[in-house]
Amino acid sequence: MRAVVIHAEKDLRVEEMAVPDLGPLDVRVRMKAGGICGSDLHYYLHGGFGTIRVREPMVLGHEIAGIVEAVGAEVSRVAPGDLVAVNPSRACGQCRYCQSGQQQHCTDMLFYGSAMRFPHVQGGFRQQLVIEERQAVKLPNAVGAAQAAFCEPFAVCLHAVKRAGALLGRRVLVTGSGPIGVLTVVAARAAGAAEIVVTDVADGPLPTALAMGATAAINVMAEPERLKAEYGAEKGSFDVMFECSGNQHALTGAFDALRPGAVIVQIGMGGNFTIPMNVVVAKEFDLRGSFRFHEEFAWAASLIGSGRVDLSPLLTATFPIEQAVEAFDLAADKSRAMKVQLSFD
Ligand code: ZN
Repeated sequence: MRAVVIHAEKDLRVEEMAVPDLGPLDVRVRMKAGGICGSDLHYYLHGGFGTIRVREPMVLGHEIAGIVEAVGAEVSRVAPGDLVAVNPSRACGQCRYCQSGQQQHCTDMLFYGSAMRFPHVQGGFRQQLVIEERQAVKLPNAVGAAQAAFCEPFAVCLHAVKRAGALLGRRVLVTGSGPIGVLTVVAARAAGAAEIVVTDVADGPLPTALAMGATAAINVMAEPERLKAEYGAEKGSFDVMFECSGNQHALTGAFDALRPGAVIVQIGMGGNFTIPMNVVVAKEFDLRGSFRFHEEFAWAASLIGSGRVDLSPLLTATFPIEQAVEAFDLAADKSRAMKVQLSFD
């Protein structure tokens, strides 16, 4: 079988690899769809992010779905032919965080396609993948693998919405309208937000955000004063902000539009920010991080699998595995691409 392997910055290869053996509790998946995520792009464009660097060849990919090809003797929940979204998060189940329902903080996490630990955890951009049964989440076959592969990024956004607390009737701001921003719009809408305003520094993604449930969209590069002018009266309008861009100017540029006591959920990974802490103090902002997910993966599969959300407008293009480099180059071009997926046939 073939796999998409990152060796170093701008050195992405499609390579032959052996198919692992199937244990009694394992499931072998014939991969059908794999979404290229911002972290995959960081490995490709920069060889990593922050202190996390690619130090050995690593198969990329963690937004993955496929068809079950074979199951071990003790597997009971899925069968050959089933469409499954693959949960790339393998928490240990034993540590104090796993035991208290905070698996995203597992002290022994094995997350696909991540160079956070060494040896790196190999990812899912490959034609065949052997997973543990607990990682396989079944969806109706009619939904298709392309939609199923959105379970992972959608789970990230559902977790962020959970971190924010109740959204029913709330006025929400989402900064950064890439796939995570737009999926956060979908999640906030499902959670009952009354108003969802999105921003970006380009026009490209704004129509998709509006089509997926945003009530207004602002290009803050073209109209830098508009957010404050329209939402800054009486100390600000928004109850909740989701910062999805990882850019400190998106965060601080929204402070005038946030009402006192607003909850800010930071999802975007942005390295070091300089922020006016006096404003955070005086307006009593509640700044919260949000990282990965746990139970939300099953929620995402349920929302997608039942047809209650349709994420297909987010898919810009699909490339065969042999054209992985072209796919990554397109995914890196934010003016042209929302989500780009690989196919593995
Ligand atoms: Zn653990």
